[in-house]
Amino acid sequence: MLLGHSANPGISKRAFRFASGPRFPPACTMEKWDSNEGTSAFHMPEWMIQFADQKQEFNKRPTKIGRRSLSRSISQSSTDSYSSAASYTDSSDDETSPRDKQQKNSKGSSDFCVKNIKQAEFGRREIEIAEQEMPALMALRKRAQGEKPLAGAKIVGCTHITAQTAVLMETLGALGAQCRWAACNIYSTLNEVAAALAESGFPVFAWKGESEDDFWWCIDRCVNVEGWQPNMILDDGGDLTHWIYKKYPNMFKKIKGIVEESVTGVHRLYQLSKAGKLCVPAMNVNDSVTKQKFDNLYCCRESILDGLKRTTDMMFGGKQVVVCGYGEVGKGCCAALKAMGSVVYVTEIDPICALQACMDGFRLVKLTEVIRQVDIVITCTGNKNVVTREHLDRMKNSCIVCNMGHSNTEIDVASLRTPELTWERVRSQVDHVIWPDGKRIVLLAEGRLLNLSCSTVPTFVLSITATTQALALIELYNAPEGRYKQDVYLLPKKMDEYVASLHLPTFDAHLTELTDEQAKYLGLNKNGPFKPNYYRY
Ligand code: NAD
Repeated sequence: MLLGHSANPGISKRAFRFASGPRFPPACTMEKWDSNEGTSAFHMPEWMIQFADQKQEFNKRPTKIGRRSLSRSISQSSTDSYSSAASYTDSSDDETSPRDKQQKNSKGSSDFCVKNIKQAEFGRREIEIAEQEMPALMALRKRAQGEKPLAGAKIVGCTHITAQTAVLMETLGALGAQCRWAACNIYSTLNEVAAALAESGFPVFAWKGESEDDFWWCIDRCVNVEGWQPNMILDDGGDLTHWIYKKYPNMFKKIKGIVEESVTGVHRLYQLSKAGKLCVPAMNVNDSVTKQKFDNLYCCRESILDGLKRTTDMMFGGKQVVVCGYGEVGKGCCAALKAMGSVVYVTEIDPICALQACMDGFRLVKLTEVIRQVDIVITCTGNKNVVTREHLDRMKNSCIVCNMGHSNTEIDVASLRTPELTWERVRSQVDHVIWPDGKRIVLLAEGRLLNLSCSTVPTFVLSITATTQALALIELYNAPEGRYKQDVYLLPKKMDEYVASLHLPTFDAHLTELTDEQAKYLGLNKNGPFKPNYYRY
């Protein structure tokens, strides 16, 4: 099964005191997956320590105005790029599988397999646009001009191949690593980005629309290479890790660690660990605060409107919307819709989240109470059958139904595949389902994740996750023998705080520094961590 697999000048130096100040205290703990009691230490590598000045320098370049005009040019350029790429693709695209094509980059290398290497220029433009919203990775790169914390690292990666991933890969390269990459999803590769990476010398094996056989072939081409063996894994979903376990278990002798991003992949690692079969240390990026609290909440707050707008062109003001689930994703969706003037109702099963919804000003209802009157239904519970056929039958004409949760189980779409209902595909990812009396509902992305299927997600949020991945790789690669055992570790809070601090200059944010007296009063180290592990944010 393929897994489904998301500036400013003058910033105070104090904002980065633990980057520019003393080293991390040696006893900064790395949390184990199932325990708050860490056993190992995360030390801020020497090369990270004087980071602040480098960051400031980088951030001086784009002024606020510069950034704004750049973001205008982003959408313009994105459109151009895609339309150009599309017309380019029209003339050169063919049905030939990339596996059957002989392609070389301009330096004569053929160690890659992408759809069309000639699309590299368009991909490069996409990567350059993404760089503008990934300040921490760009700062890491600047710093790496002198030091190479990943020198000698041979990283094999399996993630979505997008412009944001390209920025991460090129950063890892700048930090000294050699990388070979495959896609973790058969549909998500941006062909032009893959071409740009191949053109600049990265062995990338991926294209949009791979078959399942292609998928495993690409992964195999990344690891089964003469004269090259990976010593680090960066995985999203666990398929790459699984492949190496199955086909090349001896490779683990040289592998120093695994960094895993997804819920599913982490779950697999935990199972391996429980069974005593995990033979290297692994880091769970998915459960770090900077992933969960930013990706789930802010990513959805920004992309829910985009997904709805692109598919339906609807106006939000005054519309009645019901959001099922008031967790991180639900909170993001509700906040965005409320800000647009929608009337928002919430459904919840958990009294704590329900009370939060009430106190945030939303009406808490049962779905059945509002189903006849609402214009939009959004699910984000991570649960199944939240919207049933009974609900769908009672919705009013033109009601829009969509899902923001991980899997397509939240809306009972299968119940709509009955002979009396007619399906009409009106746009890509938009279906009208028509009842015998003429009533129609608008179903988006067939009940799959709306934002990932129908819109883009904000680069800045991905920057936070990508920086966490890069730091996790550096830590595992540089850790002395014995610091990490064959187990799954969470990122230490200190590292989370560090990732967050690297993104603050974008907002010209000035962090307050604890006085000695205050630090003593709170029992904190002035350089963090600032919260206990059980703190919920
Ligand atoms: P969460 O656990 O914080 O929130 C889910 C909420 O739904 C909980 O409060 C729960 O009590 C409630 N719930 C469960 N069953 C319900 C029901 N039948 N009716 C009403 N409420 C119900 O999780 P989250 O972080 O908000 O994530 C929700 C889903 O979104 C997950 O599947 C997650 O994987 C996915 N996700 C999507 C994106 C995206 O970009 N679209 C990003 C992150 C996570």
